Amino acid sequence: TDIKELLLSRIRDVEDYPEQGVVFKDITPLLADPAAFTALTDALAEIAQRTDATRIVGLEARGFILGAPVAVRAGLGFVPVRKAGKLPGATLRQAYDLEYGSAEIEVHAEDLTANDRVLVVDDVLATGGTAEAALQLVRRAGARVAGVAVLMELGFLGGRARLAPALDGAPLKAL
Ligand code: IMP
Repeated sequence: TDIKELLLSRIRDVEDYPEQGVVFKDITPLLADPAAFTALTDALAEIAQRTDATRIVGLEARGFILGAPVAVRAGLGFVPVRKAGKLPGATLRQAYDLEYGSAEIEVHAEDLTANDRVLVVDDVLATGGTAEAALQLVRRAGARVAGVAVLMELGFLGGRARLAPALDGAPLKAL
């Protein structure tokens, strides 16, 4: 479709970043183009409205850039999921495995309630580990999962399969 071509044309492949052999999908050209950034925001906001979400959870850091305008456009609240140690209040913390080692993310416990249905937004779904941990945080906070929406899914890394149990039937949408 037209929007898919517009978005793809504004994503830059950076070879050997952050390490040898990796091709990094860089969305900064898309963010710098008002037509593309607006089209992306509108498309994600439409998904949010279709899923009946009440909150957008954005994953640090590019999930903040995409998730915040989506929340405003869709009339929803925005909740940041941050790398451990960055949020000042009482948090829930979730560890997850990386290729080498592990990482931890956090959310403010009081920002999500049992009445919330959460759409997790990020730029890229790779192995799915980050989004899976975010969905676990959403459930531990007592909220329900409305789905996951990303700009891009790197299908060859199998993130969709890894995410399936945590989604428990909720949609994963990749533009
Ligand atoms: P995962 O946990 O392996 O799915 O990795 C997803 C996380 O890493 C997301 O927060 C992405 O922003 C980031 N990420 C992984 N690969 C890329 C990439 O090629 N471009 C931009 N971000 C990426």
